[in-house]
Amino acid sequence: MHLIDLHSHSTASDGSLSPRELAALGRQAGLKALALTDHDTIAGLEEFLAAGQELGLEVVPGVEISINGDELLGKPASLHVLGLWVDHRHQGLLEGLKTLQEARARRNPQIVQKFNDLGIPLTLEEVAAHAGGQLVGRPHFAQALLQRGIVRDRGEAFGRYLAAGAKAYVPKWRFSPAQGIGLLRAAGGLPVLAHPGMLKLAQFDLESLLRRLMDHGLEGLEALYSEHDTAIRQALTRLAARLGLVVSGGSDFHGRAKPEIRLGLGLGDLRVPATLLAALRQRREKLLPQPPVPGR
Ligand code: AMP
Ligand code: FE
Ligand code: FE
Ligand code: ZN
Repeated sequence: MHLIDLHSHSTASDGSLSPRELAALGRQAGLKALALTDHDTIAGLEEFLAAGQELGLEVVPGVEISINGDELLGKPASLHVLGLWVDHRHQGLLEGLKTLQEARARRNPQIVQKFNDLGIPLTLEEVAAHAGGQLVGRPHFAQALLQRGIVRDRGEAFGRYLAAGAKAYVPKWRFSPAQGIGLLRAAGGLPVLAHPGMLKLAQFDLESLLRRLMDHGLEGLEALYSEHDTAIRQALTRLAARLGLVVSGGSDFHGRAKPEIRLGLGLGDLRVPATLLAALRQRREKLLPQPPVPGR
């Protein structure tokens, strides 16, 4: 079976491979297509697209943003939305992402302060040294904690300090669902809800969430995901078909930052068939504004 992977991260966000190295790994793994979907940034896309072209690998320019799910779920919640085939030069998208990056820039010193208050003398410089690009996020805090020997692994770093509700957690400002999905669509991106199984919702609640996100322009569902088991992948694929969402799939590869996840293969059993690509592309083409009729 020919495979694709439509969810991965580079050093532009919290992955450990550069966009070029990522494309090379995709080629080496024999993937038919690979999407780069960094958190809150498209800074890696230029290099990624060029590398794809040089290597003869189909590369899909993407991004992953968080939207505020508090209202839709009636509790504090972040939803991750992928935009596949975004235009990485789109001015509105660049401005929207800048807003998210500024929110991170406000949040990171607050996280440092929480650690300092806990008697852990982390500095922002130290954390930023673990980030390959401009963007600093919680995984980089986890690496700094590991290096100091304060935690044994990333899981402990999140569980004790960084996860929602943990000791050094600081929430991050996010777009509303309408704003976030609208931003991706305006930039030509196909909006896909990432890793829906990780929300751990009952089928009924997930379905009503999806219907409301579809009212805001959601088009796809990442049914095939590393950390979804076979039963969840099947249930989500059926749900997508019933609601009229297009199915996507990806590993969420981060390189060394999430060493158990392999590109294209996830935890070992992920298979995203290349046959999904045509349906995704068609759906995305339907979103594009119709070109003006010449001569009118
Ligand atoms: P941030 O964007 O700074 O809020 O960090 C979010 C990122 O942290 C996610 O994309 C994951 O890469 C990582 N992450 C979130 N929760 C966990 C967790 N419980 N264990 C390990 N990594 C996590
Ligand atoms: Fe990440
Ligand atoms: Fe995510
Ligand atoms: Zn991701």
